[in-house]
Amino acid sequence: MKKPIHQIDYLDKTHQNKKLIKLFQLIFDYVLEKLDKKGDFELSLSLVNAKEQQELNNKYRQINRPTDVLTFPYEQNNTDVIIDLGSIIICPEIAKKQAKEYDHPFERELAFLFIHGLLHIFGYDHIKEDEAKVMYELQNSLLNNLPYDFYTDMTKLKKELNKAQNMSIAKYSHFRVGAVVVTKDFKYHLGFNIENASYPATVCAERVALFSTYAQGYKKEDIVALGCITDSKHIGTCCGVCRQVMSELMPMHAPVYIYSANFKEMLRTTVSELLPFAFTPEDLNK
Ligand SMILES: [Zn+2]
Repeated sequence: MKKPIHQIDYLDKTHQNKKLIKLFQLIFDYVLEKLDKKGDFELSLSLVNAKEQQELNNKYRQINRPTDVLTFPYEQNNTDVIIDLGSIIICPEIAKKQAKEYDHPFERELAFLFIHGLLHIFGYDHIKEDEAKVMYELQNSLLNNLPYDFYTDMTKLKKELNKAQNMSIAKYSHFRVGAVVVTKDFKYHLGFNIENASYPATVCAERVALFSTYAQGYKKEDIVALGCITDSKHIGTCCGVCRQVMSELMPMHAPVYIYSANFKEMLRTTVSELLPFAFTPEDLNK
């Protein structure tokens, strides 16, 4: 079967980083897949300054102020050609302000606005309360599960993992494991396996990193990723006990990066992929 066309006609009048188009394409593909939209689609996406956005908002919606995102769905019946979805116009200036306000990265705010626009294109709205609830829930789930990490600097992660692994206390197994938890404030929290002559008293690197993060006052929703590295020449994934703890102390959608010895190979997965059907606090209900 031929690959469907997901074409973005991209026009950036505000000269943002050229790499952004890759992020928008990833989001477009992801949202079409998750909404189960089959076929060939094209969409026009423009980034404009606040002045132009205000003019557009005034012209088409009679609201004379700039806005973060404008959406113009395009009605088309002919289905045997590429389906034109219409256009989305985002104002990066406003996105930048909102990113600060909501305390998350600028790129994540842009992703949020693009997803918001796409949902409007597909008929979702937030005028009525019940409709809004459906739209916002979907929008959050799409944003959180996007296979894109807005927080982790992979070079820094590797550096910190190397540090963590070198601190490992593995005098019995000589199998050194380093782990790093990344939090929303762009801090990196180290952990390493700590072995004990009473073998069952040993604690794994992942749990040490997570417990130490919590001990500093961070909460589950502050955690954005976890990385680990072992001495194994293969990808040595987290043990069952750690997966259980990760499923309770980390968001299920958080990315997990697992490296083999000397960073030769890397596996990118998520907590939910590592532990499907996790036992959760809800399961304690009789
Ligand atoms: Zn473990």
